Amino acid sequence: STTSTVVADKTLSTPSSVGHPQPAIVYSHVGKRFGRTVVLEDIDLSVDTAETICLLGPSGSGKSTLLRCTNLLEVPDRGQISIHGQVITDKGADVDGIRTRVGMVFQRFNLFPHCSVLENVTMALRAVHNKRREEAVAIARSKLELVGLDHLRDRRPAQLSGGQQQRVAIARALAMNPEVMLFDEATSALDPELVGEVLDVMRDLAKQGMTMVVVTHQMRFAKEVASRVVFLDHGHLLEIAPPEEFFENPRSERLQLFLKRVL
Ligand code: ADP
Ligand code: MG
Repeated sequence: STTSTVVADKTLSTPSSVGHPQPAIVYSHVGKRFGRTVVLEDIDLSVDTAETICLLGPSGSGKSTLLRCTNLLEVPDRGQISIHGQVITDKGADVDGIRTRVGMVFQRFNLFPHCSVLENVTMALRAVHNKRREEAVAIARSKLELVGLDHLRDRRPAQLSGGQQQRVAIARALAMNPEVMLFDEATSALDPELVGEVLDVMRDLAKQGMTMVVVTHQMRFAKEVASRVVFLDHGHLLEIAPPEEFFENPRSERLQLFLKRVL
């Protein structure tokens, strides 16, 4: 891994780097506008490896845009983002390479309807990672196992519940062996009784040490799983704190008001 390289290389090994592995994601002065609308303003945030950050904020506050900038679905027009020490926002960045390092799960699962569950997961392994069929199948089945769906691998997406389809979408992202996973309201399109199974998979991933940035309206998930919770408001990172502090002791009036509405 990058961390062990740094520690092994004496010229880079300073006392401060030992025991302080490089952060997984660093946002530095990130700004984004659409036309005249400022959507993100001077975002500074460092996400440690194996951390789960939950991103909360009113509709239109910039949550999706921040996630989309993290895998270059949008390009910030100010500042920098780096993933495990590598700046991804410079001109000429390897966009496809970065998208396989940074997995993303959306509200809508976007599975290919005419393909089986297994094919949905192997497709990118074959096309992007050039895996041979047997190897792609082995990787895909291990990820389907992880989300509890290997036994349904021959079904079509339409033969699955929404919660199962979203778990397939998670398996598909995991198959690329990402360093970071982004979740943009991954449970918002699901019937209430199907939300839990998807949150359980996300909770397991967090426990296993995946680095995650999660936009969610599930406050209990944020309280139980997040290492830190971030509040975005009008494109500003207004507060960041461990969940106990975030929910028990919100500092700004805007966060107090937001929590009053959602809790
Ligand atoms: P959130 O996910 O917090 O609801 P978004 O990041 O989706 O917020 O959007 C933040 C703001 O940026 C909103 O005002 C939205 O209308 C605007 N916006 C998002 N994407 C685009 C786009 N492609 N073009 C123009 N405006 C956009
Ligand atoms: Mg959004």
